[in-house]
Amino acid sequence: MKKVIIWSVVALLSFTLTGCGKCKHEYDDGVITRESTCTEEGEKTFTCSLCGEIKNESVVKKDHVYKEEVAKEPTFDEEGEKTFTCENCGDSYAEPIPVRDDEVVVTVTNKSNLPKDINAGRFSDRIEVTFDVMNNSDKVIKGVQGNLSVCDLFDEEILKISCDFTGNSIPAGNSITVNDLGIDVNEFMDSHIKFYNTDFSDLKFEYEVTNIVYDDGSSTNEESSTESIDSAKVTVNVTGKQNVEINYNAGIYSPRAEFSFEVYNNTSKDIKGVQGVLTIKDLFGVDIMSSNLDFTGQTIGANGSAVFSGLGIDINQFMDNHVKVYNTDFSDLQFEYKVNAIVYSDGTTE
Ligand SMILES: [Zn+2]
Ligand SMILES: [Zn+2]
Repeated sequence: MKKVIIWSVVALLSFTLTGCGKCKHEYDDGVITRESTCTEEGEKTFTCSLCGEIKNESVVKKDHVYKEEVAKEPTFDEEGEKTFTCENCGDSYAEPIPVRDDEVVVTVTNKSNLPKDINAGRFSDRIEVTFDVMNNSDKVIKGVQGNLSVCDLFDEEILKISCDFTGNSIPAGNSITVNDLGIDVNEFMDSHIKFYNTDFSDLKFEYEVTNIVYDDGSSTNEESSTESIDSAKVTVNVTGKQNVEINYNAGIYSPRAEFSFEVYNNTSKDIKGVQGVLTIKDLFGVDIMSSNLDFTGQTIGANGSAVFSGLGIDINQFMDNHVKVYNTDFSDLQFEYKVNAIVYSDGTTE
């Protein structure tokens, strides 16, 4: 029995070594004989454990090891550039960095609820929100126009309101705190109630900037700038605004916003009266209100000008646009006067 097994092993071995005159190579796991780099393939060598035959296989290139570097910071007008350079072989490529759009970053830092208090003149609940308004630009900002979205914890929008920051200039590279903005809660609107009743920590705020007006008069939304009509026969400049408070003794039963005007007569005839419409706009060029306004009572000399003051509107405190005119600083208002008719001293009209 023993003999048979031995013979079998010998027969098997000799068959393996000589079968068809070839070795059925049994290669080992191989060793790296040349490391690959990021530019060249490497080499791995396998050796047959039976006959010593060797074979080579290539090893794939290594990945480049890119180091990222900002070659040029983006500005608010121009793209920047990022370069990626391989630390090992120097291979490099570039990617653009988008134009900056974070000239103004608005963060909501607090919400406070002011319950209705008739004695304090608050006829409905009110929500006031505290903002941090950051100016990342290198210019002083005079006003920011945009929309505030208020969302719940699940990112579901509760309400979206337009929300402008004016009245305080924001220094370049600095931020200001604004805490006098808010909404009067309309108890018939679910969104208002939800905003009022939700804790600040359970709210998410997102502010989208739509226009920025800089101290130098430029703005990011050029469409809002109003063109001046130089060739007009009459041009009207508003030179100042004065708020007049209620004074029953003086017969002033509502607040008034009064304006001073300089009216230029660009014709060669004396003007006795000008009839027209004054439109008052906010810093962003959005109409607040329009009202008829005539200049009479004094002659405006040919190619001369005359000053008119004390003209204005009685403020109806229930009208938002009136209140806005009253509360907005003169420097944050824009005016447009449209002439409808001119009466000359010689009796002719236009
Ligand atoms: Zn072999
Ligand atoms: Zn490389």
